[in-house]
Amino acid sequence: GDFPIETDTIVIGAGPGGYVAAIRAAQLGQKVTIVEKGELGGVCLNVGCIPSKALITAGHRYETAKHSDDIGISAENVTVDFSKVQEWKGKVVKQLTGGVQGLLKGNKVDIVKGEAYFVDANTLRVMDENSAQTYTFKNAILATGSRPVEIPTFKYTKRVINSTGALNLPEIPKKLVIIGGGVIGVELGTAYANFGTEVTILEGSSELFAGSFEKQMSTLVSRNLKKKGAEIVTNAMAKGVDEKEDGVVVTYEVKGEEKSVEADYVLVTVGRRPNTDELGLEQVGIEMTDRGLVNIDKQCRTNVSNIYAIGDIVAGPQLAHKASYEGKIAAEAISGHPSEIDYLGIPAVVFSEPELATVGYDEKQAKEDGIEVVAAKFPFAANGRALALNSTDGFLKLVTRKEDGLVIGGQIAGTSASDMIAEIGLAIEAGMTAEDIAMTIHAHPTLGEITMEAAEVALGTPIHIV
Ligand code: FAD
Repeated sequence: GDFPIETDTIVIGAGPGGYVAAIRAAQLGQKVTIVEKGELGGVCLNVGCIPSKALITAGHRYETAKHSDDIGISAENVTVDFSKVQEWKGKVVKQLTGGVQGLLKGNKVDIVKGEAYFVDANTLRVMDENSAQTYTFKNAILATGSRPVEIPTFKYTKRVINSTGALNLPEIPKKLVIIGGGVIGVELGTAYANFGTEVTILEGSSELFAGSFEKQMSTLVSRNLKKKGAEIVTNAMAKGVDEKEDGVVVTYEVKGEEKSVEADYVLVTVGRRPNTDELGLEQVGIEMTDRGLVNIDKQCRTNVSNIYAIGDIVAGPQLAHKASYEGKIAAEAISGHPSEIDYLGIPAVVFSEPELATVGYDEKQAKEDGIEVVAAKFPFAANGRALALNSTDGFLKLVTRKEDGLVIGGQIAGTSASDMIAEIGLAIEAGMTAEDIAMTIHAHPTLGEITMEAAEVALGTPIHIV
């Protein structure tokens, strides 16, 4: 006998969208069940944000240990034990996923292992290896995330790998071809280039990130990658792969010419597709786009009023913090709060060298929306802390509305851009002006002073440039 288990809110998927939604829903007094078919933490914690940043850290440490002669440091016999790197990376992931489990339990969320499938708008079946259980619910939050796109000419094998494969390689490859110079391709390419891999990036458009970051920013990254020995081929069309016993030959077309490149592995990072095809959403009549993204309103509600959707399965940037943000809103909406999504303050970061970060408007988007702006720029090279860090590559641009100085965006290319972008995000959320930032006392010497100086530039009164 299968007696249905009743719950208020059922969350499907325990990635950064789902687990955050579950915790917030529980905080608001809902009886919450979360269903996860894989590992708690989803893509982000297990095979995404966190392990990639661990590999990037290890690669960077190795590279700087070898190449600090310019500041008087030289080291001999710097070696990598890649299995130890992987072991450390695994520990970081375990600590975080264990933390998520503790947080869910601490908030009295029921954790159910298995794959969820809709029966109707108030009923789910959860299948485990050899059992099935029915759940009835008042509200559901879909947070099933995404998976790598597979292109027919590059079926995944031992040597044709996706991001998960690239994060879990048993050894440092001698040569790696990456198809797709987007965020994931660039981040993993940087990590391996630092480990000494000869990296070739085949990018279909005319620049890295296909124009989603300003050209001045992406150029800093491609220049730096080339300095590490990486080759970046733009306007390149990947054609096919010939798999050998110990490697691959990838053919591609550039400017009408067919070329090929050999490597140990080919990493395909050409996008991710939403996990909305094996959930039984058609049983409930959930409306989706032709790309399989779920349509939602400003409270993350689908066309079926008690079912919500968040994260990589809805439109917008596929980012962990965007998923978490939507998760809180969905949980709050279920409890009757007036919370609504506003995407302006969602930052996007690339953990490249230098790091890139953007939030709110850039100049081009402002122009498209007919907003007159002052874009005030300040270089890292004019900041004492950046000099003392030996990291002078890059700039910060503060985008303010011309009429009143309101901060509406910012772009940063430079070391620690990923952390610095938070101040500009705060300014946007709090409705601050350039003057507010300029009047905020920033400790010296810090990279934060770059933001303060850019605000001074916006006001026409910078101290440290003329
Ligand atoms: P996911 O994290 O994908 O979680 C969905 C969960 O749902 C999964 O655990 C899955 O097993 C489960 N699930 C699916 N179907 C079912 C079902 N039927 N029943 C039960 N469970 C189910 N983002 C950033 O913001 N910063 C980064 O630095 C960053 N780096 C990345 C690096 C890589 C290599 C990759 C691949 C991604 C990276 N991302 C990064 C993107 C980020 O991982 C995603 O945007 C984020 O994980 C999306 O969260 P989510 O909750 O929507 O889904």
